[in-house]
Amino acid sequence: MSLPHELAAAVRQRAHGRCRYCLMHQALQGATFHIEHIIPESKGGRDDLSNLALACPSCNLHRSDRTTATDPDGGSLVPLFHPARESWPDHFRFLDYRVEGLTVVGRATVAALDLNHPRRLQIRAAEERLGLHPPALH
Ligand SMILES: [Zn+2]
Repeated sequence: MSLPHELAAAVRQRAHGRCRYCLMHQALQGATFHIEHIIPESKGGRDDLSNLALACPSCNLHRSDRTTATDPDGGSLVPLFHPARESWPDHFRFLDYRVEGLTVVGRATVAALDLNHPRRLQIRAAEERLGLHPPALH
């Protein structure tokens, strides 16, 4: 994907160096985070700020081109969290190193993106030692 430099810079600046789904900070990661389309280009998603989000490789791979996921409690298909249109703290909170979904969208996103994989909990513990967890929410 090739985005205009100013647009890519704006997406990165808005994210404050964090994945917009799991809030992991890029500082401890070997890979540069991707800029993803929230609504995939294959489904008509456009190259603009309202449809772009910084995402860590793990969230990016888990999400793939999905925009919905199954609610782990009710089993219905619900929208995934939309990080450009919605506010993270409206749908999630941290309980120590775990992400808890506060809404059906939050719960489905936690499950679909595997936000509490043991490796992610270890990363949050490492971030805490460096003063990066819990993140300041913008
Ligand atoms: Zn992530």
